[in-house]
Amino acid sequence: MDNNDTEETMKRDFIRDLINTDLTSGRFSGKVQTRFPPEPNGHLHVGHAKSICLNFGLASEYGGICNLRFDDTNPATESLEFVESIRQDIEWLLGHELSNEPVFASSYFEQLYEWAELLIKLGKAYVDDQGAETISAQRGNFTEPGANSPFRDRTSEENLILFREMREGIFPEGFCVLRAKISMEHENMSMRDPVLYRIRNESHFRTGDDWIIYPTYDWAHGQSDAIEGVTHSLCTLEFDSHRPLYDWFLEQLGIAEGERPYQTEFARLNFTHTVLSKRLLKRLVDESVVKSWDDPRMPTLSGLRRRGYPPSAIRAFCDHIGIAKTNSTHEIELLESFVRDELNQSSDRKMAVINPLKLTITNWPEGRTEYRDATNNPNDSSKSSRKVPFSGDLFIEQEDFMEEPPLKFYRLAPGREVRLRFGYFITCNEVIKDGNGTPVELLCTYDPETSGGKAPDGRKVKATLHWVEASNCVEGSVFTYERLFASEHPDTSTDVFKDLNKSSLSMHSSAKFEPSIETLKDGEVVQFERLGYFCKDDSDTNLFHQTIGLRDEWANIQKQNNLK
Ligand code: ATP
Ligand code: MG
Repeated sequence: MDNNDTEETMKRDFIRDLINTDLTSGRFSGKVQTRFPPEPNGHLHVGHAKSICLNFGLASEYGGICNLRFDDTNPATESLEFVESIRQDIEWLLGHELSNEPVFASSYFEQLYEWAELLIKLGKAYVDDQGAETISAQRGNFTEPGANSPFRDRTSEENLILFREMREGIFPEGFCVLRAKISMEHENMSMRDPVLYRIRNESHFRTGDDWIIYPTYDWAHGQSDAIEGVTHSLCTLEFDSHRPLYDWFLEQLGIAEGERPYQTEFARLNFTHTVLSKRLLKRLVDESVVKSWDDPRMPTLSGLRRRGYPPSAIRAFCDHIGIAKTNSTHEIELLESFVRDELNQSSDRKMAVINPLKLTITNWPEGRTEYRDATNNPNDSSKSSRKVPFSGDLFIEQEDFMEEPPLKFYRLAPGREVRLRFGYFITCNEVIKDGNGTPVELLCTYDPETSGGKAPDGRKVKATLHWVEASNCVEGSVFTYERLFASEHPDTSTDVFKDLNKSSLSMHSSAKFEPSIETLKDGEVVQFERLGYFCKDDSDTNLFHQTIGLRDEWANIQKQNNLK
């Protein structure tokens, strides 16, 4: 699991093998250039992290560059808001600013248009006056060939005039499209006269009303790669069937084989208990299932950031899983184990009580407050500590007390003695209840001889509880989270919302914290003793989001797998 330098230099996978072969053969004159091409129509999710780590990682390993290229060819769904958030998320994930400014497919619209005219002049593209439905119906399927459009044999001259008229806005939206003229019988459906341009009466967030025709993904993508000088165009497996088309366009445009970029596909990242599709994530926001794109339950990079995931843990996870050619689904617990390992090393310990129960020490000297030494981080070599106030008025966790404890409940109960962390041994003598019979206060005594956490007579206790002193505490809220989807594999084929976990968020609004939490920075993650890791929200209130629990669920899964 460790991600040290030796492993870094030895990284091997089929993409790196291809690049090494290209370097040896002198293809691209030793240059390696990649790109990460998101469409600015939503926020990035953790699946994108794999592609970002791969593309930016390769550029840095091979001393090349990686462009963040916005694939902004669909004006209806794209916006500047997404451009900005995508850049911010990438810089957060990588841990540094981009070394070169982002680029945009829309910057190439004029060049793409000229290339389309060139295709027309070569007799390799035509204007089709049929509607989208007819074109789709004529494509055939895997077993049957498609049918030629009645407009397929228009002359180059005629097509050129019509295409220029398309650009000028003579035709209404949907009236006609520009298609490549390849073959309607091609065994690869992507090659059956794909659409290159469609009419869209929409303003574009960058080019405004300059254009009325917009290129499709297929037409824009490889050509944008070529314009930028990309060498290795890496995409996910679903683009596999588009590869021959990618090559066909560049070949028609006269770019020599050894010089043109080429596409290689790798497996998408998928996780259990979540969905990684912008369309579905957008629905979760639009239908108010979650509060926003950066809701800590969302698998978006902004959601994980808000939840306190260290970007280095996501990068280490991506390194660990590597690159493969077959799709698979990773257990979300594996990603979480990387987060936990990292936070265990990096985060300070604090004490907090999420669901408080009042505890009064009846033999504590009136008016006295002690300042107890508490270790900040047992994994930190400096072994620094802080002072935590302690008195006879405390809060403990409701869960840590049971009036009639079942077997194996070792925490506090009437007549039982336990240790308070960094404090003393206490014994519960009396339970005060409200009208409903719910305990509201515990009356306890402490043993002043146990100040060092041990009893001089050697008697043992079975539990150590965390606590917060009442008169100096800070009040606030803690949000704890469960999986957004209850099922391991949410069923995206029907209504995926059926699989939602109804209790994915629990709000605890009367939480108590030790005073030192006031010095925490927004976004800082701490371990609340015995509870897990929590991230301070950047709002003004003392709100903490649960990053992750303490228990290593990944280890359990491995154990179960070994038993099978
Ligand atoms: P979604 O399917 O969630 O809508 P997308 O593929 O449409 O995502 P893009 O903005 O087109 O989103 O993706 C940008 C890049 O990220 C593409 O190269 C795509 O292959 C890659 N990518 C998207 N999802 C994943 C994933 N789950 N794992 C790895 N790479 C991904
Ligand atoms: Mg896509």
